[in-house]
Amino acid sequence: MRSVLVLGGSTEAGALARRVQDRRVVLSLAGRVERPADHGVELRVGGFGGAAGLASHLRAEGHGALVDATHPFAAAMPFHAAGAAAEVGIPSLRLLRPPWTAVPGDRWHEVDDLAAAAAALDALGSRRPFLALGRGHLAPFATTRADALLVRSVDEPDDLPDDRFTAVTARGPFDVVAELDLLLAHAADAVVARNAGGTATRAKLDAARRLGLPVVLVRRPPQPAVPTVGSVDEALAWLG
Ligand code: NAP
Repeated sequence: MRSVLVLGGSTEAGALARRVQDRRVVLSLAGRVERPADHGVELRVGGFGGAAGLASHLRAEGHGALVDATHPFAAAMPFHAAGAAAEVGIPSLRLLRPPWTAVPGDRWHEVDDLAAAAAALDALGSRRPFLALGRGHLAPFATTRADALLVRSVDEPDDLPDDRFTAVTARGPFDVVAELDLLLAHAADAVVARNAGGTATRAKLDAARRLGLPVVLVRRPPQPAVPTVGSVDEALAWLG
């Protein structure tokens, strides 16, 4: 049975790689996180050099299948994966967990990108938002009228846009009690998040609902038209 390359960056990628049996599995990471979680599987780190580079890599390694389990907000890799697998002629799958959907009591304002999220904060009159965003996503918020912006990311941000920003570092999963504490300690009046889906980071939305806070939620980027499943179990079934 030929090996499988799993493109990582999501919780599901590591879980899938751990559970593949009876064949070689390689988990590929872009290398954005300083200390990635150890899944006890063969790991390679770094970009391939676009779709053409990925196709060359697939050929050189003799992989027989590709699972793109990159993060729901990875904008480029899903298209590279689809193109490279088609070029090499191996089956490929997109593993993409379902997005969150609002429940009664949620006050969501859905927007297409971070610039629109920053504009939405001002439209809401937010002065003390909690930005549940990675460290690479803060610049658009420098133009907001907010007085104090709390940021949470896995790694310490290299630099913050200005001194209104305060950073906390933490790695999920997060629970609703801790999220309530964080929002209350900051006296947050709004939450900004991206619609990542899944359970690990959902608690901030539940905490916002309990506090009656508005959530500015960024929609996901477009995805290629390829076979797609929403769970690790379905991806394992596809691998057979
Ligand atoms: P992206 O726009 O889709 O990817 C940018 C470039 O990073 C790709 O062209 C590729 O470089 C390289 N890359 C991405 N995923 C890779 C992987 N699994 N293995 C090897 N190279 C990879 O994604 P991004 O937004 O920059 O995110 C980078 C990585 O972080 C992704 O793996 C993603 O799953 C993960 N991540 C992203 C987010 C997010 O919010 N965007 C959140 C959590 C985790 P080459 O073209 O050189 O091959």
